[in-house]
Amino acid sequence: MEIDSIYEELGISRSVLDFGTKIEGKLKARFEEIDKNAEFNQMKVIKAMQENRVSDIHFAATTGYGYNDLGRDTLEAVYASVFHTESALVRPNLISGTHALSIALSGNLRPGDELLSPAGKPYDTLEEVIGIRESVGSLKEYGVVYRQVDLLPDGTFDYESIEKAINEKTRLVTIQRSKGYDTRPTFSVSQIGELIAFIKNIKPEIICMVDNCYGEFVERMEPSDVGADMIVGSLIKNPGGGLAPIGGYIAGRTDCIDRASYRLTAPGLGKEVGASLGLNQSFYQGLFLSPTVVAGALKGAVFAANVYESLGFAVVPDGRQSRHDIIQAVTFGNPEGVIAFCQGIQAAAPVDSFVTPEPWDMPGYDAPVIMAAGAFVQGSSIELSADAPIKPPYAVYFQGGLTWYHAKLGILMSLQKLLDAGLIVL
Ligand SMILES: *Cc1c(COP(=O)(O)O)cnc(C)c1O
Repeated sequence: MEIDSIYEELGISRSVLDFGTKIEGKLKARFEEIDKNAEFNQMKVIKAMQENRVSDIHFAATTGYGYNDLGRDTLEAVYASVFHTESALVRPNLISGTHALSIALSGNLRPGDELLSPAGKPYDTLEEVIGIRESVGSLKEYGVVYRQVDLLPDGTFDYESIEKAINEKTRLVTIQRSKGYDTRPTFSVSQIGELIAFIKNIKPEIICMVDNCYGEFVERMEPSDVGADMIVGSLIKNPGGGLAPIGGYIAGRTDCIDRASYRLTAPGLGKEVGASLGLNQSFYQGLFLSPTVVAGALKGAVFAANVYESLGFAVVPDGRQSRHDIIQAVTFGNPEGVIAFCQGIQAAAPVDSFVTPEPWDMPGYDAPVIMAAGAFVQGSSIELSADAPIKPPYAVYFQGGLTWYHAKLGILMSLQKLLDAGLIVL
């Protein structure tokens, strides 16, 4: 049986498949580069598992206090090896990326300290953690002062203003690697390294924390290789490899991780407690798969950028730019395009493909939002997913794909929906 006919059975027309095949044909060099990075990172993960003598005993469940949870302690040692840090906290009870970031910040800041963001406004959910938006229990309520230096108009760091913002109270600097759902460029690891070196040169004792969400295994180096004292991320994004059903990590200097652990559990208890409840195997196995899963997601992002760019839509990053995270933005300029795109992503999913996503008024947003996700793990954005606020410029953000083939089907299906709605001509 020909490959065309299986695509046809899935609802992809000949013209869409031919168009996609033509674009894919031009991406061989890009894909090869992505595969080489995945190979490097796969070796890095295997080496870390071997060095820490991972064994099937580490997959056993623990309950209650979780004293002497060998699987948990070894997993944390593996993360520390992969990221070249002294220590790590990798836990199911770090329930999301936001929670991990909140624990890392509140564990390491004290009343009267200043927190500085030298790269503009952080991710939406951190506004309430920090108290940029008034919220109960924020760092602001505990007397932590927040300062921010915006990026220059060209998206680079405003070194002059950063130097001015650093003072005797500055205790911690938070740097977000991925643009998230913003329009600025994502920072490369080497750009982050330059920024950290600049800051440490002014005041060496500042703790430099990097929000590493969506960035893990996209490059061969991580921010912890270029001076970050802590890196933080979510296990239902890149490093969970699609298998982790929950979780977050903080990796870094022992004193920073210990302080975070006393905030996560309790002073005096720290890392010594916290049962892993039988989740360890999926954490190990997800980390093992993560480099190739990230490669699949990256291929999908590069494919989508090239497909939609060639149809005349604005895409960020563009089809040729180097990648530092797995997020792709496509601007359609009208609600119909955004809705058709998301409906295509949904229709290509292994789970809930029969559901038609519609825009709805989500709490906390100022415009209706449409979301497409047919995921095995709720909210998992290493799985193929897309979302968009229905407001100008009508851009959709999408990411993930546990396999390249699924990401490809999702993008072809989005094209099909746009074609069927008369919004594009091939
Ligand atoms: C996703 C994300 C977060 C928050 O993670 P959640 O798991 O959704 O709470 C924080 N920062 C960035 C850059 C992210 O992409």
